[in-house]
Amino acid sequence: MSGFVVRPEPARVEGLTHLHTGKVRDLYATGSGDLVMVASDRISAFDWVLPTEIPGKGRLLTQLSLWWFDRVADLVPDHVVSDEPPAGAPADWAGRTLVCRRLDMVPVECVARGYLTGSGLAEYRVDGTVCGVALPEGLEDGSELDEPIFTPATKAEVGDHDENVSFETVVERHGAGLAGELRDLTLRVYARGREVARDRGVLLADTKFEFGRDTDGSLVLADEVFTPDSSRYWPADEWAPGGPQPSFDKQVVRDWLTSAASGWDRAADAPPPELPESVVRHTMDRYAEIFRRLTGSEPKL
Ligand code: ATP
Ligand code: MG
Repeated sequence: MSGFVVRPEPARVEGLTHLHTGKVRDLYATGSGDLVMVASDRISAFDWVLPTEIPGKGRLLTQLSLWWFDRVADLVPDHVVSDEPPAGAPADWAGRTLVCRRLDMVPVECVARGYLTGSGLAEYRVDGTVCGVALPEGLEDGSELDEPIFTPATKAEVGDHDENVSFETVVERHGAGLAGELRDLTLRVYARGREVARDRGVLLADTKFEFGRDTDGSLVLADEVFTPDSSRYWPADEWAPGGPQPSFDKQVVRDWLTSAASGWDRAADAPPPELPESVVRHTMDRYAEIFRRLTGSEPKL
């Protein structure tokens, strides 16, 4: 079992229709056909949305996405219309809301990897490939790849694993034209992110994009971009392949959940417990640290 420990109630706002409750974001449609995306403070781990929130996380992710959309704007158009919550929205939506163009989403999680870890490493250990891409022998957890690779996945419902697929599978499902476009855009935007991060002493190990199609069929970068929820960031000066890297994401949460202290029996499919205050604080500190390192400023929480 997995999913929500506590299913959140959508807000009622005049003029908005609730469309979807994602792991982190709540989606509403406006009367004019736009999308309102509200980033909550929810956090997920091991396919569960945890019962404890990380106060400030939604605002931080929203501001970081906006910062990054600006830095890739010459490479790809994005879905943002405005960061002003619509009239009548709860006060708490300020800073965590993006009004976006509602796109026809391409159901492919567009992942780029410059380093080998996570599900990529697990696949490599079985047969030396990741999503059908053959890699040289002898790579370890955290190894840098000679060339970044496109490793698509299919999007799962809340509570399910995304599934890695080969480029050929994307071609079969969506055609060679769209598949090639997704791969090229993914690698191009990732290269930019990596360069910007590297200048700031941070390795962008991998990332996930979601693209949607505009009414004219062109691809638009949607969802969130280069946030620590969608990307693995590692401090460059601590990078040492051969094991897990210190990272600026929810590692703190995963480590605590899998430690004896949590008392959580993950294998028994029990819902995960509330996080202790110290884990909440430490997690937010890591998110704030990556925000500062990248943008050089403080997040407005
Ligand atoms: P994850 O991001 O971990 O895969 P999720 O799908 O539950 O999980 P959320 O970030 O909580 O993600 O929800 C955002 C939802 O909004 C996603 O389903 C995403 O595909 C969708 N989305 C993002 N931007 C747009 C857009 N411009 N038009 C339509 N749908 C969008
Ligand atoms: Mg998402």
